[in-house]
Amino acid sequence: MRHVQHFIGGEFVDSANGATFESITPIDNTVLATVSLGGPTEIDQAVAAARDGFAVWGSLHPEERAKILHRVADGIEERLEELAEWETRDMGKTITASRSKDMPRSATNFRFFADHAAAVGTHAWDQPAKGIFSYELREPLGVIGSISPWNFPLMLLTWKVAPALAFGCTVIAKPAEQSPITAGILAEICRDAGMPAGVFNVVNGFGPDSAGEALTTHPDVDGITFTGESNTGRAIMAAASPTLKKLSFEMGGKSANIVMADADLDTAVSESLRGIFTNQGEVCLAGSRLLVERPIYEEFLARLVDGAAEWTVGNPLDETTRVGPLVSEEHLEKVLSYIDLAQDEGAKLMTGGHRITDGDLAKGNYVAPTIFADAHNSMQACQDEIFGPVEMVMPFDDVDEAIDIANQSRYGLAGMVWTSNLNTAHKVAREVKTGTMWVNCFFVRDLRAPFGGYKDSGMGREGGDYSYEFFTESKAVVMKFPED
Ligand code: NAD
Repeated sequence: MRHVQHFIGGEFVDSANGATFESITPIDNTVLATVSLGGPTEIDQAVAAARDGFAVWGSLHPEERAKILHRVADGIEERLEELAEWETRDMGKTITASRSKDMPRSATNFRFFADHAAAVGTHAWDQPAKGIFSYELREPLGVIGSISPWNFPLMLLTWKVAPALAFGCTVIAKPAEQSPITAGILAEICRDAGMPAGVFNVVNGFGPDSAGEALTTHPDVDGITFTGESNTGRAIMAAASPTLKKLSFEMGGKSANIVMADADLDTAVSESLRGIFTNQGEVCLAGSRLLVERPIYEEFLARLVDGAAEWTVGNPLDETTRVGPLVSEEHLEKVLSYIDLAQDEGAKLMTGGHRITDGDLAKGNYVAPTIFADAHNSMQACQDEIFGPVEMVMPFDDVDEAIDIANQSRYGLAGMVWTSNLNTAHKVAREVKTGTMWVNCFFVRDLRAPFGGYKDSGMGREGGDYSYEFFTESKAVVMKFPED
């Protein structure tokens, strides 16, 4: 069994009081690792180390930081197989996704922001008639608390940590308690890449009354970048307010996936399935409300149900598996309760709708890919984020109705539209209130583009220059030239 320690000031350490918790694998609900359980003491130590680290790291030239961050990316690539296996065991995503998507993207996060930070400039404003010249200086924000979820443990942690480091901040990362292992391996990689002590720190623990809350309330933490549930965002905002930290939140979603009758149906069917069943549906961006134009509704539904059968559920370490177990028994119960609720609310179960208990799968948290038809957007199952492999399908009559339905949600993280009509594409893209709108594609990202959400889905944006904005302070220097 593995033991996961904190990484503070360049050293792997246990908690001062020796407290630990267990990380359980969802494959069979056995203990995978013991993990040091941090609290205010460890956060204090990590903040002090990060403050010392900042004195060195924050004043390095971005190109010097970039060299080290590229070595971190090299380290992720060299240890990719090891990282992929631990990620899969820890939270249940398929090994193919860990290998081909999450781990490579984690390395890319470091490479992209290393290069971006070395390349970005600042602005200058000239007022020759007044003899005034103003320019902008950018300075790293300082010590950052990074709080991340379990659904893409390393990918989302590095999406926050890499830009923070690239722009000169130092970091205390608090990984999700369900999936702490790869963050510990990343700490080894950072140390081996020659990152100075205190620049990247990891403190493990829970949220409330634990390491998470201690980080958000700490007076010497300058900013919090958080990804997780919207209610957690509310709690963090309240806890952080006395110390007036800068906050960036990426939160939940219930995205509308709109299929127009003029769409390329083959692509729309296969991408809609990918949009809900990828990562067992544990995806903030999932197209979990599927809106289909009425003339193709029945045909589309039939093809969807056929296609769902190809999403094989199984042990995520098996390369043929497409849907692994849900992260925990608690989460499994939540998803199953929403399946019951959807039926009580009158949605029609087309396929799935149950836990899978065949053979060894009985020990883990496996749910069959589930599709409900004839859903209505007012159902709670259409309003709440289920965060599992559960699709709610509903018909609509025209594009205006589809846009209305899409917008009748407290979330606004993503959206998709499938159409061959350019006007429809533009209209939907303009009128749906959402942070990302995909037109005839899905899950495609340009890391320079803004990423975040409207409404309960987010506050602020990350990615490219948006991360530069968050992780730096901007200073205006105004110079007066002597009169002739
Ligand atoms: P969560 O909010 O329960 O936990 C996320 C992190 O916050 C964990 O590290 C947890 O320990 C910490 N935390 C919890 N309470 C805290 C508190 N009071 N103070 C400080 N830290 C606290 O979320 P989760 O269940 O791990 O992840 C699933 C959620 O994340 C879903 O809602 C999903 O949509 C969202 N998510 C959003 C994005 C995005 O980019 N918008 C990406 C992935 C996941």
